[in-house]
Amino acid sequence: ARQQGGNQYSFFTPSLQEAAQQKLQLTRELRAAVAGQQFCLHFQPIVELGTGRVCKAEALVRWQHPERGLVGPGEFIALAEENRLIGEIGDWVFKEAARWTLRWRETYCPQFQVSVNKSPAQFGRTQNHAAGWIAHLRQLGLPGRAVALEITEGLLLNATPAIGDCLRSYREAGMQVAIDDFGTGYSSLSYLKNLELDYLKIDRSFTSNLAPGASELALCEAIVVMAHKLGLKVVAEGIETAQQRDLLVAMGCDYGQGYLFSRPLAPEAFEHTLMSTHHR
Ligand code: C2E
Ligand code: CA
Ligand code: CA
Ligand code: CA
Repeated sequence: ARQQGGNQYSFFTPSLQEAAQQKLQLTRELRAAVAGQQFCLHFQPIVELGTGRVCKAEALVRWQHPERGLVGPGEFIALAEENRLIGEIGDWVFKEAARWTLRWRETYCPQFQVSVNKSPAQFGRTQNHAAGWIAHLRQLGLPGRAVALEITEGLLLNATPAIGDCLRSYREAGMQVAIDDFGTGYSSLSYLKNLELDYLKIDRSFTSNLAPGASELALCEAIVVMAHKLGLKVVAEGIETAQQRDLLVAMGCDYGQGYLFSRPLAPEAFEHTLMSTHHR
């Protein structure tokens, strides 16, 4: 647009400035949010496809913005990563998720497991930071098994020895590890043999295009077969239709998550779901 003339150039520049200003403003607000604990968690049920039971959920963070209402993670996680605020937000998410998990294991579902997202920016590249979260679980009297960590393929692609040590420490403490958005990263499959993992989460981009004859169907089937041969369970995310669910059940996919079953819910509403599926 620049070489088309001075007019467009001068038209373009303020909007760039505006965008930078907005980002600065948002960063300032995010700092205040971290200090003022303006976050909350929603829980999306993870359904055991064979039985329809709910014994797991993914914890998803939201920002309760004083003026703009509930803001989704898509609008602030990347910014938090850039500004090193993700560590503090992630610690809060972990503790809050553990707190509810303790309650739900004691009330409705002794096996309940929460999934927590941990982005690459939350891993030290040279230091193993696993001890803090492990100690927190011990303090609450929760077994490691009560938590699964969702990590992305990108983390493993650039894994340093410290990252490998960190994941091993978590697993030694009993925590489980899931590969999130499986199939969308660089998919060097070699990490599957080098690392001990527990779940593959099939990305929504595959699930949402599942239909008889679609290449996504062949890919999902191949992922399920491979995962099971490696001793991993499979979670399909983004299930929105009964047809998608039925195709996944038919191929032996273990767990499902998506709007067909439930949107992410405030803790009280999720608790209601747990109560009704466990006291039938
Ligand atoms: P994700 O880990 O892939 O989480 C799944 C996202 O898909 C969630 O969006 C969820 O609400 C949405 N979703 C679930 N079922 C369906 C469905 O059937 N259809 C459609 N269209 N969408 C569905 P959400 O809550 O906006 O989170 C977006 C991303 O933000 C997450 O993607 C995750 O990468 C990140 N995130 C969320 N919470 C945290 C957190 O506590 N820490 C970190 N590091 N990242 C987080
Ligand atoms: Ca996730
Ligand atoms: Ca995902
Ligand atoms: Ca995703």
